[in-house]
Amino acid sequence: MKRTSGQDRSITSRWRPATRAVRGGTWRSEQGETSEAMFLTSGYSYDDAATVAARFAGELDGMTYSRLQNPTVQMLEERIALMEGAEACRVQSSGMAAMTTALLCQLSQGDHMVAARAAFGSCRWLGDNLLPRFGIEVTTIDSRDNAAWEASIRRNTKVFFFETPANPTMDVVDLEHVCGLARSRGITTVVDNAFCTPVLQRPLEWGADVIAYSATKLMDGQGRVLAGAVCGSEEFINEKLLPFQRNTGPNCSPFNAWVVLKGLETLDLRARRQSENALAVGKFVEGRVPRILHPGLASHPQHDLAMKQMDAPGAIFSFVLDGGREQAHAVLDALQLIDISNNIGDARSLMCHPASTTHHNMGPEGRAAMGVDEGMLRINVGLEDPEDLIEDLDRAFGKAGL
Ligand SMILES: *Cc1c(COP(=O)(O)O)cnc(C)c1O
Repeated sequence: MKRTSGQDRSITSRWRPATRAVRGGTWRSEQGETSEAMFLTSGYSYDDAATVAARFAGELDGMTYSRLQNPTVQMLEERIALMEGAEACRVQSSGMAAMTTALLCQLSQGDHMVAARAAFGSCRWLGDNLLPRFGIEVTTIDSRDNAAWEASIRRNTKVFFFETPANPTMDVVDLEHVCGLARSRGITTVVDNAFCTPVLQRPLEWGADVIAYSATKLMDGQGRVLAGAVCGSEEFINEKLLPFQRNTGPNCSPFNAWVVLKGLETLDLRARRQSENALAVGKFVEGRVPRILHPGLASHPQHDLAMKQMDAPGAIFSFVLDGGREQAHAVLDALQLIDISNNIGDARSLMCHPASTTHHNMGPEGRAAMGVDEGMLRINVGLEDPEDLIEDLDRAFGKAGL
């Protein structure tokens, strides 16, 4: 195996983001392949016993077992770290494996976490159900409210956990303020950056500590594989995350890592084009529905903040119909082009009704507290021609009586 310039931080640190996304982290075998090789192997063999002993002792670089290291997985880790501007990254089998690992590797019985109320359903489940079972207290707040973050801090608060913009209400967290507050109190911020990816938002630049991803979404970008990633300082990754990950095994398969590597090569193009398309579609939808939640539109109450910390407003937005679940389902059932699907980040446009799908398990009271209305629909705008998407929505809205 040969390291390329993509593995040399003294070189990659000079590269601009689009170059890092295509070249970062690449290793080459003796075949000189241009596209990264896929190493589907769980184990490794050694020339002699002394070599394996030295590797296990940490005296010699090299692979020992794919739960600990794998060349394809390491290429993806280095590429994501470079794109994020992080010292280190480790990838996991899914976004939820990444979130669980990022939290459990650093929290212990008696610790306290402050978490955003508006969040992906399973992220809420971690704070509402899993962590309390292990004696970790969780306070859930309105993440838009800077004063609520400060008021929730306790002597034993260790972590702030949130996503921005949040799924599906598009609540925006003031990264500079909240990360600055956490830092001044010795609290670690864990930011779920799935809606943006490093192309659209880099929370480390605003003072965040740990960035966690569902790479299933925009990073893969074509709805193929599940994967996750956690980025942070060398110290956090090596001392907190790695001991947990190596011994509990939430690892990403080399095949999935390879698919995401290929996805990252086009992430910059896709994220920016999908963002443009979502703005065009959003402007049409705004004229037809009572309420729209789109960070790129001036009608979003946190539009200025969103545009301060995001390079572009992203592929995803939500809107709310007055006719509740019945009307929302009627719109979905009348679509011809846009798929009914709860996934996001895909090159295909997808739409879902969060109250009956992604946020179903929270129950009506949980949804009401989070602002997930019965009439809410969430759309992931893909790479199709936005005029075709607008025609599809126009027809579906008409059929649903809008
Ligand atoms: C999808 C998603 C997750 C979970 O990721 P998986 O890859 O599905 O496990 C977590 N957070 C957010 C914001 C998501 O959109």
